Amino acid sequence: MDMEHVRCLIIGGGPAGYTAAIYAARAALSPVLYEGMEPGGQLTTTTVVENFPGFPNGVDANQLMADMRSQAVNLGADVRRGAVTAADLGVRPFRVTVDGSAELEADALIIATGATARYLGLPSEQKFRGMGVSACATCDGFFYRRKDVAVVGGGDTACEEATYLAGLCRKVYMIVRRDVLRASVAMQERVKATPNIEILWNCNTQEVLGDASGVTGARLLRKDGEVFDIQVDGFFLAIGHHPASELFAPWVATDPEGYILTEGGSSRTSVEGVFAAGDVQDPVYRQAVNAAASGCRAALDAEKYLKR
Ligand code: NDP
Repeated sequence: MDMEHVRCLIIGGGPAGYTAAIYAARAALSPVLYEGMEPGGQLTTTTVVENFPGFPNGVDANQLMADMRSQAVNLGADVRRGAVTAADLGVRPFRVTVDGSAELEADALIIATGATARYLGLPSEQKFRGMGVSACATCDGFFYRRKDVAVVGGGDTACEEATYLAGLCRKVYMIVRRDVLRASVAMQERVKATPNIEILWNCNTQEVLGDASGVTGARLLRKDGEVFDIQVDGFFLAIGHHPASELFAPWVATDPEGYILTEGGSSRTSVEGVFAAGDVQDPVYRQAVNAAASGCRAALDAEKYLKR
């Protein structure tokens, strides 16, 4: 059986992948995009997006992603259901396996597989996801104006999110599992100088509390054995992200956390012809609009590579 040959293969159905497909289709690269296990990407775990430019009244996250997908399809991209399950970037053309069986080869590859926020793994946390439990303060903080919220974590992200939320909310609890913050000194000082942030040291969350309206609080266990409840309307996780780069890490250079390294502002990885876009290469900004922008860069870089 002949193996399917693709000029420009895009892996990942989030803002980065769809935008790459839009640009690659318009550049006549006949892109094929595999959406992976979670079409629409991380944005589909939220509700309304108010910070994506062009939507003065906000936009439903699922609608935004469905529209990006349709735009790619209408411009001629071949958008397919299916997850890439294996890759060989040591051969030319590159080879990938989809859903464990179909093999195809590609001249250029755009990796836009994203990242996933880490969660604590509590059933109650799962139950209230999107109903008060969020892993993105920048996305969802606005919905908790003048309310009380909690942020779990003690790293730079947790501190940044807590200070951001402190500007919107009445009170922000930081739930920190040790008696120190992992965050940089500058971030720690910002947190400590913010009067409406209270750090709950040595605390782990036992359960997220809620009712039919969503989150109402959290039950915490302190290291000294005390169990107590706090009342909050929002429960934000900031305990790290995990980039979906495992399949490609044997070939492309990554940082110690697994984020794919790209060359100075471009989407070029350490393997010529392999480009990375979106959260899989972005440990810092992690916003849909940044992911979309980097998808554009990847398509332009792939076009240049294919037409060289
Ligand atoms: P980090 O890995 O730096 O921090 C994770 C935090 O979550 C730690 O405080 C950790 O606790 C805590 N944590 C992990 N698992 C659990 C758990 N199961 N229960 C409770 N707490 C838990 O992740 P970040 O996302 O904060 O940062 C990632 C990288 O990005 C870092 O290198 C950071 O410096 C960088 N960054 C930089 C920013 C900036 O410079 N402005 C902004 C944001 C991120 P413990 O300390 O006990 O392990």
